[in-house]
Amino acid sequence: MGEFDLIARYFARPAKRSPLGPGDDCALLAPAPGMQLAVSSDMLVEGRHFLSTVDPARLGHKALAVNLSDLAACGAKPLAFTLALSLPTVDESWLAGFSQGLFALADAHDCELVGGDTTRGPLNICITVFGEVPAGAALLRSGARAGEDIWVSGTLGDARLALEAFRGTLSLPAALFAQARARMESPTPRVTLGHALRGIASAAVDVSDGMLGDLGHILRASEIGARIDADAAVTCIGVSTDPDFAAAALPIEILRLCALSGGDDYELVFTAPASAREAVAQAARSAATAVTRIGQTERDAGLRLVDAQGAPITQRFDSFDHFA
Ligand code: ADP
Ligand code: MG
Repeated sequence: MGEFDLIARYFARPAKRSPLGPGDDCALLAPAPGMQLAVSSDMLVEGRHFLSTVDPARLGHKALAVNLSDLAACGAKPLAFTLALSLPTVDESWLAGFSQGLFALADAHDCELVGGDTTRGPLNICITVFGEVPAGAALLRSGARAGEDIWVSGTLGDARLALEAFRGTLSLPAALFAQARARMESPTPRVTLGHALRGIASAAVDVSDGMLGDLGHILRASEIGARIDADAAVTCIGVSTDPDFAAAALPIEILRLCALSGGDDYELVFTAPASAREAVAQAARSAATAVTRIGQTERDAGLRLVDAQGAPITQRFDSFDHFA
């Protein structure tokens, strides 16, 4: 199968909303009047972002999910995406699974594939997403003020628990491992919540490299600091609500590490004034996504971690850095 047959068979679908989809030199997009385009790229590299054994449908899902997560963090509505794919061989069963997982998520968000590039090489997937947001309404990292609530959506730490179980550094009962692994391989981008938080959240970021590190981007951009209740973050670990979790007897230091700096969560961390608590709760209900308050922003720069009793925590947490 040649390059163009491969594209036609697995990736070229007629554009429904965009004026021009795959097949020409450029795709054409038509954001509505008064809207700004929100654009983001994320690349997944075999061996670095995923294991070669991952189910191709989950990989197709994740490649788009991590990109939609960036649109969510801006409060943008997905429009379209491009896919640049480097493949070592033409493996049709892999391509069928990958494109099925990719398009299932794309269709769920009404986000269409409008073009891309396909080449031979090490397995590497780069997606660029395009979304739209009313001019001036995007959620930014720089909008937080001292004295606001810090919230996190959904669950934290499960992806890191699964990764550590893969590495053999901890052991999880089989059912919990499957649940945590699904969170690692098949994250849920919080697009609906991001959209609902426009005009309510003062700043937002999505959690890809670890919650504290990503929150740090908000704190630096907004020139403030924060106090975080580490144990409130630990309650966000999805598998921790399972009755079998206690039997795994994982040390609190491991749980805090996973929740606070685990990475690969694709949740939203956002700030909002205390006066907006009811509005935040309403946005969460409308998006059918849980939110948890995990701390407050403060005037003094830096992060102060405390436990449920308010006592300082000295454990260090580093977020992920590809070049550190
Ligand atoms: P060019 O030579 O101009 O870079 P290509 O020959 O690479 O164009 O691609 C031909 C057409 O197929 C283009 O419209 C491109 O957007 C589309 N395309 C290539 N790879 C993909 C892909 N993986 N998914 C979707 N469309 C693709
Ligand atoms: Mg090309």
